[in-house]
Amino acid sequence: MSTKKRNWKPQTALVHGGTLRSGFGETSEAMYLTQGYVYETAQAAEARFKGEEPGFIYSRYANPTVDMFEKRMCALEGAEDARATASGMAAVTAALLCSAKAGDHIVAARALFGSCRWVVETLAPRYGIEATLVDGTDIANWEKAIRPNTKLFFLESPTNPTLEVVDIAAVAKLANSIGARLIVDNVFATPLQQKPLLLGAHIVVYSATKHIDGQGRCLGGVILSDKKWIDENLHDYFRHTGPSLSPFNAWTLLKGLETLPLRVRQQTESAGKIADFLAGRPEIARVIYPGRADHPQADIVKKQMSGGSTLICLDVKGGKQAAFAFQNALDIVLISNNLGDAKSLITHPATTTHKNLSDEARAELGIGPGTLRLSVGLEDTDDLLEDVEQALKAAKIEG
Ligand SMILES: *Cc1c(COP(=O)(O)O)cnc(C)c1O
Repeated sequence: MSTKKRNWKPQTALVHGGTLRSGFGETSEAMYLTQGYVYETAQAAEARFKGEEPGFIYSRYANPTVDMFEKRMCALEGAEDARATASGMAAVTAALLCSAKAGDHIVAARALFGSCRWVVETLAPRYGIEATLVDGTDIANWEKAIRPNTKLFFLESPTNPTLEVVDIAAVAKLANSIGARLIVDNVFATPLQQKPLLLGAHIVVYSATKHIDGQGRCLGGVILSDKKWIDENLHDYFRHTGPSLSPFNAWTLLKGLETLPLRVRQQTESAGKIADFLAGRPEIARVIYPGRADHPQADIVKKQMSGGSTLICLDVKGGKQAAFAFQNALDIVLISNNLGDAKSLITHPATTTHKNLSDEARAELGIGPGTLRLSVGLEDTDDLLEDVEQALKAAKIEG
């Protein structure tokens, strides 16, 4: 069944896509906790190494459980091929380094997940790969940053934590005009609410740690693209540097994918209601939520996203003290820098995820002392609204 090409809608693909059923006919995906594989004969080993016979060789290259996860992600994303990685950062680093060499130039939107920014800004230059960070919301900035050796564009949309939205189709078009490739980190939108490959991006990366697991258990990542790019750029890099996903984590992520649409739908619905509630409160200076008409790039959201995301960025009046008092007064919402979880989580970027940036860099990204990022979980919406309301009152924030 897995080998047939079917036009499944996402919810079906996420339950059945990529399934490799063993001779035992198990209902649930099997977890193949094995490093290696045995061959019937020496000739069979030779044939498999030559690529003349299909089959697995070593789990650093591929593993049946990991393969199911990769195929299911391909079905969801509409990608030809994928490689699953041990974490989201392994995916980002592999996608960037496998396709750039000394003397190449990367243009990236400056609003990046902290570790992504480190890879682009600090690690890549050590290997002679130049990088320019731009305000990605204006296409003119991307154009101005182009050099004769520009090979890669890299962006995240919506961004962490201020949920800035970049016009993926416009950046992809610009990349195509100079023969460069666009890599999109699609974590915040999830594969359900934004399809970067359909918008023209060449490579999509995920931290599967977030919504794809969605229940706070294991790290994982995935890189998706066309077969040609993976064969020519990622294939050898991946085999020989070993960022592979463990079969146990792949199994957990496969189970996560089955419920992804239900969870993302519920979390987005709650997020929309909480964002609207916050926007009407006197204690709140600013709410940024892609699902609201007052989002700074609402026109682009409309063009490229089919949902408002499960995250909200808010600014409480009264700066750090008020932001801390509000967080501490929350009862259901937990203080944690993770996101996409079944549990609602809140973080204060200036003192946690973005503490390593200079004050100036934080200001550029719109991260102030009162800025908070809320990841909405699966709890009852009314309970969450009540929790937020009681915490705003308890924090005694002057409206
Ligand atoms: C979490 C995250 C990453 C890194 O993923 P890990 O699984 O933690 O390595 C990269 N990009 C974005 C946007 C993220 O949210």
